[in-house]
Amino acid sequence: MTHRVALIGNPLKRRHSAVMHNAAFAAHGIDAVYELKPVEPEDLASFFAEAREPDWLGFGVTAPYKEAAMEYLDEVEPGAAAIGAVNNGLRRLDGSLVGFNTDAPGFISAVRAAGVNPAGRTAVVVGAGGAARAVVWALADAGARSVFVVNRSPDRAVALAEDMSAFGVVDGGSFHDLPELAAGADIAVNATTMGMTTDDTAFDVTLLPDHSLVFDLVYVPAETPLIRTARDRGLTVSNGMEMLIRQGEIAFDRWTGIGSTATIMRKALDEESADSEPEG
Ligand code: NAP
Repeated sequence: MTHRVALIGNPLKRRHSAVMHNAAFAAHGIDAVYELKPVEPEDLASFFAEAREPDWLGFGVTAPYKEAAMEYLDEVEPGAAAIGAVNNGLRRLDGSLVGFNTDAPGFISAVRAAGVNPAGRTAVVVGAGGAARAVVWALADAGARSVFVVNRSPDRAVALAEDMSAFGVVDGGSFHDLPELAAGADIAVNATTMGMTTDDTAFDVTLLPDHSLVFDLVYVPAETPLIRTARDRGLTVSNGMEMLIRQGEIAFDRWTGIGSTATIMRKALDEESADSEPEG
């Protein structure tokens, strides 16, 4: 029996997840396929009914269904519930479905890989969408001393901070607060689409301390203007590709019990040019 995993979303333009997961299945001799499945809202219920069949290992979820998917699942793990978004899930042997969020641990894993332990650090996160929610929760959960969220629409940043204040010291504000916040940031994160859809940068890297880590969630292009200017300034940088790979490694481990697939996934992505719109 060929096992199945599908990524649902609409539209689904990028193939990164299929490339990295299918490479990991092949490398480990697992008879399974990861497919991209564009789904209309009215077909969500039938998708999650199908995913309970014995040939399914699990599923991935991307925009616009990361919140909506939760109502079709038997269980949502606490991190995903706190974030308010499921981006992966698995089928248990009894056919029940469990949803979880791998963006959060994938982000923390990539931060650690860049040589930074978030515990006790001060972080600034620009953005207040779904990805920012995962990042802010992850930083608070990892023991950051404080997390400041700023957003183009400041009310969304304030609301996000309120939601996450149960998990750590989290505050919200506007772009006007950025210069002061940047000066004290150990970790500065772009969790907006800036750099992907536009050429501007989320913050001015010249304002950051010399030891700062600049993390850009955007993974296409790999070198955004933010990453380029931060690197030129001599700061430590990490782009969204490492987070994408590490969250994928965590999901793969949940489906198969096989960890440490990041190297296989990275190589597969390096070899494949996936050049349409991002999944995340
Ligand atoms: P989203 O929910 O649509 O949120 C978009 C965010 O970007 C909002 O905060 C929005 O501000 C802000 N924004 C958009 N255009 C802007 C502009 N011109 N100037 C300033 N702010 C702007 O998107 P998302 O799902 O959170 O994703 C955000 C980014 O993270 C995307 O680039 C996505 O590809 C990436 N991502 C990467 C990974 C990974 O594994 N590397 C995972 C998930 C997401 P407003 O609230 O004011 O509209």
